[in-house]
Amino acid sequence: MKTMLVTGGAGFIGSHLCEKLLDEGYKVICLDDLSTGDEDNIQRLLSDDRFAYLQHDITKPLAIEEEINHLFHLASPASPVDYQEMPIETLLTGSSGTHNALELAKEKGAVFLLTSSSEVYGDPQVHPQREDYLGNVNPIGPRSCYDEAKRFAEALTMAYHRKYGLDVRIVRIFNTYGPRMRKDDGRAIPNFITQALANEPITVYGDGSQTRSFCYISDMVNGICKAMFSKEMSGEVVNLGSQNEITVLELAERIKKLTNSNSKIIFKKLPEDDPKQRCPDISKAREILSWEPKVDLDAGLNKTIEWYMNKKSIKI
Ligand code: UDP
Repeated sequence: MKTMLVTGGAGFIGSHLCEKLLDEGYKVICLDDLSTGDEDNIQRLLSDDRFAYLQHDITKPLAIEEEINHLFHLASPASPVDYQEMPIETLLTGSSGTHNALELAKEKGAVFLLTSSSEVYGDPQVHPQREDYLGNVNPIGPRSCYDEAKRFAEALTMAYHRKYGLDVRIVRIFNTYGPRMRKDDGRAIPNFITQALANEPITVYGDGSQTRSFCYISDMVNGICKAMFSKEMSGEVVNLGSQNEITVLELAERIKKLTNSNSKIIFKKLPEDDPKQRCPDISKAREILSWEPKVDLDAGLNKTIEWYMNKKSIKI
């Protein structure tokens, strides 16, 4: 039985990934310092004897006795509110944390997957974003702690590949949503759903004309697994995300309708350096991984809304 290590395994994406890996018959070691993750997310997995949870900060060196075959490195704050509250921790996680994770993969001879982000493209001037677009990042702006941490993490990952021949792959995750996103993580979907369910004002930043494309969690974990287990991905980077681009105002209206809410939509100041337009080109994922998202936005939003209403475990 192969062993998978997932850093950030108690987070939103990490916990769904741990679950899927267990479903597929692997042993899973989940590492998390719970700075933005939550033990509730993995509660149901703790009784499985193929699952082990270690509370550990990845920026501190770690020793693990077990053999590890594949290492998924997800650990990092990821919501703009979280990473701007923890800018130094975020930079250290991307740098020292990624270094520790890569060293562990090298020691174990494990295949390494880095979850990077669409934020490496910054406020993109090319649309949609292909993997060979080099980005438009403000290196001293408020988002730079995350953007540059991910860019550094990508560079370090490729350095281990070139220098040591480590089998690595990088996925750039675009906006992803679903059950287990923290209600208070500050991102658009959790904010809009909690506001709509409470009939409180829905806070759209700026005039809401900025765009995003939202990928449902089950599609995202499928893409991450395909990238990890594809031999063609060695030394490669691939975008994972939805191509269904909508404005933030449309998203607010959609959530208001799906929740039958009486909320008003109000407009607040646009955060500095907020990307104006974002949508991945996923031709490479389609070609190499035969992957594309399957769950449409209304279906995914309905499942997410249901989870926020019940806070119970639902099948994604
Ligand atoms: N946003 C918004 N209202 C909110 C939270 C976010 O209008 O209450 C906007 C935010 O300014 C951005 C988009 O929604 O343009 C997506 O933000 P999110 O934090 O979800 O993710 P990002 O794509 O910025 O990482």
